[in-house]
Amino acid sequence: MGGTFDPIHYGHLFIAECSRHKFNLSKVLFIPSGRPVHKKRLDIQPPERRLEMTRLAVEANPNFELSTIEIDRPGPTYTVDTLEILHNLNAFTQEYFFITGADAIMEILTWKDVDKVLELCQFIAVTRPGHSLDGINKVLDSLLEVQRSRFHIYETVGILVSSTEIRERVSMNEPIRYLVPDNVEKYISANGLYK
Ligand code: ATP
Ligand code: MG
Repeated sequence: MGGTFDPIHYGHLFIAECSRHKFNLSKVLFIPSGRPVHKKRLDIQPPERRLEMTRLAVEANPNFELSTIEIDRPGPTYTVDTLEILHNLNAFTQEYFFITGADAIMEILTWKDVDKVLELCQFIAVTRPGHSLDGINKVLDSLLEVQRSRFHIYETVGILVSSTEIRERVSMNEPIRYLVPDNVEKYISANGLYK
């Protein structure tokens, strides 16, 4: 599961856990992005901070793991490179599923080397409130069957939270407790993030 994770919140953790269960995944790797190619926001927190918050958020779940693979790599982040590195690390013995919310899934078709990306992993598109899965089905139906079969739509309980909402709430001194794990909330407040 990739993301900017600025900060990580229960929406991320929930879709990761649900997908792991539904698709029988052995574990979920959380991969905070280095320099996201598609993110236009300039005041994004430095990688070390997003990494630390992700570490704190996943530590309580033995099936979750943090990966620094994108942050450690210089230059812009391309998923195709990440997937090739992951496959090479285990000699192509593992199958990978990329977990995304319904809002992010369609961007994939614009990614670098999308054909290669679809060979290297399958995609799980999970319910996100405010983003219809119907439209996604239409777009997917226009793909070739080999590509179509690499996408899985997964409808589950929608969690209405975003990192944008968290950042705004912190800046307005509104509570974020129960939207992010306690240790992430403490990290944000101890380091004065998003003020
Ligand atoms: P921002 O508001 O800064 O864009 P975000 O909450 O969308 O942050 P990202 O790091 O952009 O979080 O998202 C990483 C992945 O998690 C994306 O695939 C996104 O679709 C998914 N995601 C984030 N929040 C939710 C949610 N509440 N429900 C379902 N999917 C989510
Ligand atoms: Mg987002």
